[in-house]
Amino acid sequence: MDERKIALVTGGSRGIGRAICEELARAGYYVIVNYRSNTQEAEKTLAAVREDSDGELACFDIADSETAIPAVEGLIEKHGAIEALVNNAGVTADGLFIMMPEQDWDMVVNTTLKGFYNITKPILKNMIKKKKGAVVSISSISGIIGNRGQANYSAAKAGLIAATKSAASEVGRAGIRVNAVAPGLIDTDMTSELPKNVIKGMIPMARIGKPEEVAKVVKFLLSDDASYVTGQVLSINGGMC
Ligand code: NAP
Repeated sequence: MDERKIALVTGGSRGIGRAICEELARAGYYVIVNYRSNTQEAEKTLAAVREDSDGELACFDIADSETAIPAVEGLIEKHGAIEALVNNAGVTADGLFIMMPEQDWDMVVNTTLKGFYNITKPILKNMIKKKKGAVVSISSISGIIGNRGQANYSAAKAGLIAATKSAASEVGRAGIRVNAVAPGLIDTDMTSELPKNVIKGMIPMARIGKPEEVAKVVKFLLSDDASYVTGQVLSINGGMC
């Protein structure tokens, strides 16, 4: 890489987000590690980033417009440009739809979709001005095929795909690319309580995915190797359909 590029990864303190931060650091990016509350884990990510590159922490709730939008605008002002955005932060609050409390619906949908709005809009504006940049959002297989007990999460992740395709069609002329990935079951805190041995049997590759296997695809989509790829959703799921 000729010049150092700046990347913002939301939810970079743990799991898939941490693996993405580390992968982007290895590719030479300066990595801004966003997280919501777990400073201890975020500091571990930053330490790992600093083994290969440099970066900083940015603690804010992506779903809270009042804090997230000024925080992102501050980062753009500080760095001049953010060339790579990874909308990774996400949450689950599973339960059967007819029993689902309104706050569980709101929390999951707002984290993903309000988060996309709050973070992506100011960054895309800046990317258009600079005429370069790429966005990758972490959707889910649940956003493509739905999932029992995850009406809120599936709706949020399907919305993320539609927002990705729509934004891609609006900014393509400026040379900006907007894509999504849809992981299947990946080994992180989010999935720590799932019966993995049972689920493994439903996966053609007969194993759970690793965060690094998502991170490498995200790095590819952000890179010039994917220079004609936009508005797409790449599945990373060991062959589940
Ligand atoms: P995870 O281990 O639970 O980590 C979630 C991360 O998101 C943490 O860094 C957390 O920060 C951050 N976060 C949550 N809400 C936030 C908010 N409102 N503002 C800022 N940061 C917030 O999750 P994961 O498994 O790595 O999942 C990462 C992404 O991949 C999510 O979007 C998830 O839906 C998606 N995904 C995961 C799987 C899977 O099997 N694991 C499959 C498909 C898609 P704190 O540490 O501060 O809490």
